[in-house]
Amino acid sequence: MTAIAPEMQAPASAFDTVPALTAADRCDATTTTIREGSGSANPRVPCGAQAYVTALFPSGSTLQFCAHHGHNLEASLVQKGAVIRDDSGVLQQNTKPGASA
Ligand SMILES: [Zn+2]
Repeated sequence: MTAIAPEMQAPASAFDTVPALTAADRCDATTTTIREGSGSANPRVPCGAQAYVTALFPSGSTLQFCAHHGHNLEASLVQKGAVIRDDSGVLQQNTKPGASA
């Protein structure tokens, strides 16, 4: 009964309007690694791994990356004005008990 009108809410987080990543979200990065056995010159191979890192740009557009690419690209993304949300912490939560070093 005490719903707050949207215009009354402060923009606490730029990510409020960005949906959470799901298992269906895939890394937007491409790699220059040529897959062994491909035999063809295809220098832009989509990563395609599950996405855990979201980069939100001032324009409102987003890119999603796997933990590997998200961490590798974070500095350059921030330089371009992106805000990073790193959900890769769930990776630790999903590891088997006793497997941690
Ligand atoms: Zn990736």
